[in-house]
Amino acid sequence: MQIFQKGFNFGQDGPGNRLVYHLLGCNMRCIWCANPEGMSTSGDKDVSVEEMLDECKRSKMMFFSGGGVTFTGGEPAMQYEELLTLLKLLKEENIHTAIETNGTSPHLQDLLPYIDYLMMDFKHFDSDILKQYTGVRNEMIKKNFEINCKSKRQQHIRIPLIRGINAEHPEGFAEYFSQFDTSRTVFEFLPYHEYGKAKWTEEYQVKDGFVSKETLQLFYEVFNEHRLNIVRT
Ligand code: SF4
Repeated sequence: MQIFQKGFNFGQDGPGNRLVYHLLGCNMRCIWCANPEGMSTSGDKDVSVEEMLDECKRSKMMFFSGGGVTFTGGEPAMQYEELLTLLKLLKEENIHTAIETNGTSPHLQDLLPYIDYLMMDFKHFDSDILKQYTGVRNEMIKKNFEINCKSKRQQHIRIPLIRGINAEHPEGFAEYFSQFDTSRTVFEFLPYHEYGKAKWTEEYQVKDGFVSKETLQLFYEVFNEHRLNIVRT
């Protein structure tokens, strides 16, 4: 598998202390991406499924407080076949698994039986606007979201809030989400930051994407009015 970064962290990429693998390659081109080095599909760190499994098994002592292994990116489902193999092996070892995905993969539903904790981005409810800023439409993301609601699957939806792109429309998000059974869904808002800006080799296109406290508060209020579960991490 192709990895561009790995390391342990606590409570940021799923429950407990986790070994987090950043898998190389992404089908989206979000203009605010904090890990632009992970977009390309060609890298030099190729690791076999067996090596990764060994590393995870050796790390078991570190998975305290309900921790385990998280796959993020890039977009982890870009390496779907090897990821599926590894996930099955991790479950045989009773290792807790989590994924952070942009939700666009038609293979996501095949991976989910082997994933204990799902974190999925939902960047815009309007497909044309999403395409304008990321290069990808949202039909598949909505489909995955709706299947997860219907099957009452746990899902943690992450919404990056970016001024001028999506932060002006809390109702648009809430009205879409509240059409479905979100009893096992939590929503998290991620206010815009520029931690990854310096890593861009192309011109960085977001101009002042920071959101105010009032904007964030409005999202909390609108989601509360629609009885959507909010998580603050
Ligand atoms: S989906 Fe995530 S990794 Fe891919 S370009 Fe967008 S922000 Fe970056």
